Amino acid sequence: MKTALITGISGQDGAYLSKLLLDKGYEVVGTTRDLDSVDLYRLSFLDAKESVKVVGCSLDSEAEVGRLIEEIAPDEIYNLAAQSSVGYSFENPIGALKNNLLNVGYLLSAVKKAKKEIRFYQASSSEMFGNINELPVKEDSYFHPSSPYGISKAASHWLTINYREGYDLYAVCGILFNHESCLRGQDYVTKKIIRGAIQIAEGRMHKLKLGNLDVTRDWGYAPRYVEAMWLMLQQDQPRDYLVCSGSSISLKEFVVKVFEQLNLNFDDHVEIDKSLYRAVDLEKMWGDNSMTKDELNWEYDLSINQLITHLLEDEREFILWQEKVANS
Ligand code: NAP
Repeated sequence: MKTALITGISGQDGAYLSKLLLDKGYEVVGTTRDLDSVDLYRLSFLDAKESVKVVGCSLDSEAEVGRLIEEIAPDEIYNLAAQSSVGYSFENPIGALKNNLLNVGYLLSAVKKAKKEIRFYQASSSEMFGNINELPVKEDSYFHPSSPYGISKAASHWLTINYREGYDLYAVCGILFNHESCLRGQDYVTKKIIRGAIQIAEGRMHKLKLGNLDVTRDWGYAPRYVEAMWLMLQQDQPRDYLVCSGSSISLKEFVVKVFEQLNLNFDDHVEIDKSLYRAVDLEKMWGDNSMTKDELNWEYDLSINQLITHLLEDEREFILWQEKVANS
């Protein structure tokens, strides 16, 4: 039985990846920064909480990370822990840089010291590309990050490649584009739109306040994106891949499509709030997933309308589950 270590197991991707790896017969160990206060509701929702082992670890402590790798001796590490909000990284840029880079450095250093054939996955992001003109982006497109978050991810990305090239580690970066689910944090825009639209359709809310709707993104479905993470660690040779849907639409079109599926009119229910605009916005993002599909045999064929249908269905199921938990 293989052992996988997932940092940031309490997050969206940590939960879906845990479920996938448990189904494949892995022993799954995950880290959290604070074992006493962590809320593992995402793992509970996926019925995976009782099957994983969650341990506390300060990933910004070299000594703690070293001990963790020695004790768990994993076959695979998925480094998902991060201050993952682009918006919040503008409020705390140094925190984003520190938190998102130190853990990668300490984990890679511990893997190197362990002298074990540990395979390492780093959660890189399309935010590293930033505002470049060359669209769709490919694996070798250059980086021009437009947020402290994107800069922190670019630094971690290159550190991972540096360990691969310098010490012959099996270390890869999955450059994931925005991927959504009902398990996204409340502050993320797609979650806010999907939840808000359901509440409007049920007459429990009237207006949805949103920021810049002109941005264009390549959105995908999180449960399918974690499959690509696993595939990346099963190859003969380590290399980096883009994980994206291969198409993009504006945030305004996204909202319109969500509303259409619920028979709602955009103009009646959306209000623009300029205070939600960012200092610098990543304007357009769109990726080419052909290499990932060809080399990893990763299957992704959801259209944006199918994605939205999944998100609405999952959100309704999640709301019912939350009500059941609250009443039990
Ligand atoms: P998420 O839901 O925010 O989960 C990340 C986890 O990291 C949290 O549950 C938290 O766990 C831990 N964490 C939060 N703040 C931290 C900090 N300051 N320092 C260290 N750990 C911290 O994120 P996700 O959506 O699952 O994304 C997983 C990874 O993929 C992240 O690295 C993210 O940046 C990257 N990524 C995500 C997307 C996307 O669209 N979702 C796209 C590209 C890349 P504890 O509180 O339990 O410690």
